[in-house]
Amino acid sequence: MNGQPERPARIAAAFRSRFGAEPLVWCRAPGRVDLMGSHTDYNLGCVLTLPIDRDTWIAARPRPDRIVQAHSLNLDADTRFDLDALARAPGRAWCNYLRGVASVLRADGQSLCGFDAVLHSTVPLGGGLSSSAALECATATVFETLGGWSLDPVRKARLCQQAENEFVGVNCGILDQYTACAGRAGCALLLDCRDLSAQPVQLARGLQVVIGDTRSKRELAGSEYGQRRAHCEAGARQFGVKALREVSLDRFRQHESALPADVAKRCRFILEEDERVLRMAEALTRGDTEAIGRLCTASFDGARRLYEITTPAMHAMRDAMLQAPGVLGARQAGAGFGGCLVAFVDPGAVDAFTAAVRRGYQDRTGTVPELYPVHAVAGAGRVDGAMLGSGWSSRPSVEAGPGGGDGLPCQTAT
Ligand code: ADP
Ligand code: MG
Repeated sequence: MNGQPERPARIAAAFRSRFGAEPLVWCRAPGRVDLMGSHTDYNLGCVLTLPIDRDTWIAARPRPDRIVQAHSLNLDADTRFDLDALARAPGRAWCNYLRGVASVLRADGQSLCGFDAVLHSTVPLGGGLSSSAALECATATVFETLGGWSLDPVRKARLCQQAENEFVGVNCGILDQYTACAGRAGCALLLDCRDLSAQPVQLARGLQVVIGDTRSKRELAGSEYGQRRAHCEAGARQFGVKALREVSLDRFRQHESALPADVAKRCRFILEEDERVLRMAEALTRGDTEAIGRLCTASFDGARRLYEITTPAMHAMRDAMLQAPGVLGARQAGAGFGGCLVAFVDPGAVDAFTAAVRRGYQDRTGTVPELYPVHAVAGAGRVDGAMLGSGWSSRPSVEAGPGGGDGLPCQTAT
């Protein structure tokens, strides 16, 4: 149901059958993939990140009370909560993403309105392409639209990150939410995690990004992620700085031998990866395919030997990608420990590439992978009328006007 005409129809049908009415607003937020920059975010370095055309849609209708009711088509699950009693549900319940967003927006002083909603995502859940941030940012956009106010995209991203940190209990950086909120169509973002500034990076023609999901479990991700962070923090302390970003590669090389071996390996990877981010931004703009391939190889080798975040499934996916026709380069995406890889492919060879990778990965692992050719899209907002097709509207929020019953903005916002 990715971008296909039946997507809005299916969401609207589910909405009608649950709530006996048509949805009035349609909001969306994209998933993302990093093109270069593994684990550089929490070291306050740079990341080259791409908002992708796999996204989360929420079709909603305001309610006259303070209740939010939502149905996830992905999980076939419902949630219902009161905006005046925003408790955290135990464990990693999916409703916490919605409740968390409501809670931080309310604490930020925004007026919130109850709504009924059906949501659907084409971002794989738990695959490292940030379905959680897409859900948070789409939810914030629904509140924003129904409330009749508007948040700066970076502020929205910060609040959604806060929701995930504090309400869901995941210690993520801001990368996912930033990309989901501030992305620009046709561009990657070169995000500087030190000052949260970003520059759009126009990808040269002749480059197709293809994501390969290994579909392997990411069980170690939590504990290993924490250890990598701890090693980086230990390295930064040795240099007397707040984050590795403040250490130059030259200075690091002079003092590398004095560091514990594990810490030295982790720091070397981060500092080299940070340089690769800047070089990759140039290579992608120029369409320098030789440099793209070289940088991908160096990134994956570092992830494997220095940062030690690769797994046999990731090796199998990379080998399958590098042997497929049209490949220009392939590397890890996200935090590693399974999950996805990202490849740069000659646009004329995408079908042959995906067919060969599917076969090659299955031969090596016995698992059928998911392969997603992706394009860069805009950050969170209303669903474009053209995407909805005929029959569904994404009406402007003032269309029915105050007091108009179904009209927006919401009448009961506080
Ligand atoms: P990722 O962000 O890489 O996809 P996470 O573990 O951070 O992985 O987030 C995945 C979780 O987010 C899911 O297990 C679920 O709780 C929640 N989630 C994301 N999208 C949806 C959705 N469409 N419906 C319900 N829950 C969702
Ligand atoms: Mg996530």
